[in-house]
Amino acid sequence: MTDARLGTDARPFRVAVIGSGPSGFYAAEHLHRQEGVVTQVDMFDRLPTPFGLVRGGVAPDHQNIKAVTRVYDKIAEHPEFRFYGNIELGREITHDDLIAYYHAVIYAVGARTDKRLGIPKEYLPGSHSASEFVGWYNAHPDFRSLAFDFSGSTAVIVGNGNVAMDLARMLLVPVENLHRTDIAEHALRALGKSAINEVLILGRRGPLQAAFTTKELRELGEIADCDVIVAPDDLPSAEEISEGVSKTALANLEVLRHFAAKPLTGASRRVVLRFFQSPIELIGDDRVSGVVIAENELYLTEHGSVRARVTDRTEQIRADLVFRAIGYQGVPLLGIPFDAAGGVIPNEKGRVMDPTTTTHVAGEYVVGWIKRGPRGIIGTNKPDSQETVDQLLEDFGAGAFEGRDVPGRAVLERLLGERRRDFVSYSDWQMIDMLEQERGRDAGERPRLKFSRIEEMLSALAEKKQEQRRVQSAQAQHEGE
Ligand code: NAP
Repeated sequence: MTDARLGTDARPFRVAVIGSGPSGFYAAEHLHRQEGVVTQVDMFDRLPTPFGLVRGGVAPDHQNIKAVTRVYDKIAEHPEFRFYGNIELGREITHDDLIAYYHAVIYAVGARTDKRLGIPKEYLPGSHSASEFVGWYNAHPDFRSLAFDFSGSTAVIVGNGNVAMDLARMLLVPVENLHRTDIAEHALRALGKSAINEVLILGRRGPLQAAFTTKELRELGEIADCDVIVAPDDLPSAEEISEGVSKTALANLEVLRHFAAKPLTGASRRVVLRFFQSPIELIGDDRVSGVVIAENELYLTEHGSVRARVTDRTEQIRADLVFRAIGYQGVPLLGIPFDAAGGVIPNEKGRVMDPTTTTHVAGEYVVGWIKRGPRGIIGTNKPDSQETVDQLLEDFGAGAFEGRDVPGRAVLERLLGERRRDFVSYSDWQMIDMLEQERGRDAGERPRLKFSRIEEMLSALAEKKQEQRRVQSAQAQHEGE
């Protein structure tokens, strides 16, 4: 072991961040804010592109939200930051490698899959999870090969969160409004031919319990040529609103009352918000054609929360497409504790906990949705990552990492080279970014035209790098003459 103190130029403190979404970037930022400690942050992502759900989740018509990536670009400028894209934990790098190569590891892997409804025929063709549709319209390579059949008129969305709102807009906004967004080209083409003109959104509880926020609800009313339909009977009267109802719920109620009172305009599209309804079965043989829904009644649990339970009052509704937008779900990572019921890595304020011994797994930390569950907006991750990094730095201060030397970056990069393929660095990503923006301009004033296949983006990158090398060598030759 060297004599140098950990966290100095001679012996940098090495931290791996697994995942490059908002929570990972905020963790990197907080680590680098720590004065007097030289911390090298190596961020890994299984995709060649960074930014997690900002690139692959936020709806394309919310370009202003996507602009947060400028903040992440700034974080990536730190001289001790490195990005290793196209490197997947469990494939090119293992849990054992992380332990061997880093003093500390922060998992920022998000919640990759969807919750299940647990009803008969849930997975009939034509019934899709939110993450499939969201990934598909955002050009996420995992979902590139999916196909959605928009030839029918009616889509049913299950769930009352902001993802449900996103899906409804994406299904109903006139496609011209999406031309100047970063929507996937394949999605733009398919939605351009969509016959869907009615979207039903099913909430299992009432308007006061809905998870969507007011701005997103209001946006339904801003879709061109679209009526928003809410049954006045679903809305509570002033007497039925108990104390302690959140400000968001009251603001939502205002908007819903406005929708309910507005006469129909005869618009060619409609979105119907139905509350107190649960799907209990999908209908169809080779593909979905309808949903059996049951009316719910609400009850108060002994802990004071409002729950829904189905009644025997059922109804069959038409559905040419069904989207299950009932929340995302984290998946386990090999070698790392996992709480299957909560879909999270068990932790205390971000320190990974071993559930069998109830002790902290030394050197391992967690941030974002895989820490707290799939809740909260992008900004929620800032204090969340800060909390975790505070624990990590407390452990650092207590000398938890002092006794161990780890190999440097050159050794890591050699290992990655041996393992399979070249990683994508941040400057490589910036080149991909530039190429996507150029393609966007060529396609007509679009912010970018995304690559939706990994091979496609890697070969475009290789070509661009080769071209750059040619230019550089021509310049060098010219200067030498
Ligand atoms: P969410 O906010 O947790 O909403 C999930 C919805 O699904 C809830 O209405 C929930 O109802 C319902 N649900 C759950 N299980 C169900 C079941 N078995 N049957 C019927 N309904 C069920 O999740 P999300 O919409 O996926 O959003 C995830 C997070 O991302 C949220 O924090 C959201 O605000 C955020 N987000 C933000 C934006 C934005 O800012 N524009 C956009 C997208 C997402 P109960 O309440 O009854 O459980």
